[in-house]
Amino acid sequence: AVPVICIDGPTASGKGTVASLVAQRLGYAFLDSGALYRATALAAARAGLVMEPGNEAAIAVIARQLPIRFDGERIWLADEDVSEALRLEATGADASRISAMATVRTALLDLQHGFARLPGLVADGRDMGTVIFPTAPLKVFMTASAACRAERRHKQLISKGIDAKIDSLRADLEARDARDQSRAVAPLKPAQDALLLDNSTLTIEETVAQVLAWWQE
Ligand code: C5P
Repeated sequence: AVPVICIDGPTASGKGTVASLVAQRLGYAFLDSGALYRATALAAARAGLVMEPGNEAAIAVIARQLPIRFDGERIWLADEDVSEALRLEATGADASRISAMATVRTALLDLQHGFARLPGLVADGRDMGTVIFPTAPLKVFMTASAACRAERRHKQLISKGIDAKIDSLRADLEARDARDQSRAVAPLKPAQDALLLDNSTLTIEETVAQVLAWWQE
């Protein structure tokens, strides 16, 4: 079986950065599952669909046929580079809405399982350890305080020349967390055998080192 490291956690906990670095260090494949939900939402919006329950079946069809391709840092949808469009706040909000739809989640199962290949996979998301790779030998649930996550998101935006109020960023994060935790399907929560990693007072490098240390145990 392909060894899989699952890294789940809330928005802006740093799990994406850490997961991709861990994958790099180990020479493993990397699955950014959030990008699949974002790409589905983007493709649905482009098809003129609003992210409402009445459109669940149509959005699930889009998810099942998603022409997504990962090429290093770039993400393509058919022949368009959508890397920037996927990162937009609006896309994230739409992704969060469709991620509560059971048939959309099911439609993305095979695509996600297809990322597992030797010598190994690091999978980043909300339900990697609980639903997608439940037998993975290492599951990390990564968190950081809401204040910390809002501050990091703020710095990230400032570096892109976007000014946003920390308070409203924090409110957005907490609203998305609440929605991810309270949805009926695959709610955000640690797997029973997950190791908790709060990186509020850790650097990225220290966080990566902790995951690698657990993997080497
Ligand atoms: O991680 P990212 O912010 O890119 O994910 C976007 C949205 O997709 C999240 O807010 C969450 O609602 C959803 N998601 C999910 N399950 C995953 C990954 C992401 O429900 N495995």
